Amino acid sequence: MQQIDIHTHQLKKEEHIQILNIFAQDLPVVRQNHLFSAGIHPWHIETVKVDKCLQEIERATQLKNMIAIGECGLDRSVSTSFALQELYFRAQIQIAHTAVKPLIIHCVRAYSELLKLKKETRAEIPWIIHGFRGNQQTAQSLVRHGFFLSVGEQFLNDQSKQNALQTIPPEQLFLETDDRKISVGSVYQKAALALKIDEEELTEIIFNTFKKVFGNQQEEKTGNQPLSTPNTKH
Ligand SMILES: [Zn+2]
Repeated sequence: MQQIDIHTHQLKKEEHIQILNIFAQDLPVVRQNHLFSAGIHPWHIETVKVDKCLQEIERATQLKNMIAIGECGLDRSVSTSFALQELYFRAQIQIAHTAVKPLIIHCVRAYSELLKLKKETRAEIPWIIHGFRGNQQTAQSLVRHGFFLSVGEQFLNDQSKQNALQTIPPEQLFLETDDRKISVGSVYQKAALALKIDEEELTEIIFNTFKKVFGNQQEEKTGNQPLSTPNTKH
């Protein structure tokens, strides 16, 4: 059973499944033998050619190893107009919906807007919030609305987030290294300890969620082949 890094900014030399985040402005990528997601980060909206980025994301959805749209989303901590952020987030939700791929979401202080958007667009694709840092109440309502929450080292180290962590059912939890130079194994260790679940069991639960969330699209496109392990060696 393999561990999964749902969101990383650099490929690690480890034998686990990892989804490399690629910013849309860096598309198209040439050597694509690993799983990746691509999206327009809300921080980049004002500095990239957004329409070209959207086209590139759309084109990339044809690739079998492009397994999610994102990171994309909403961020109240930056000066970029919120309306503009929402506009391009909606465009990416649409792409994800059409391509039937999950969303990997960056969300800072905009959880209620995110909930509203999910209800309104009714896009029946998995919504995964990466780098979740909200409180227990937020976790509760996101879980209730079917979101998957991915947490990293920072969240797990924060004692004040313990209640929020316990609120997330392991079946709706993912783990990630994001932009940190750490191993996903250490994140699994921390999470298992905090959740008082055996690490192997947690690995299995998350692996099953991964298959459920990302497996369908692969089956559709490759004719029922099991989800393949990406080659992480370059
Ligand atoms: Zn990230």
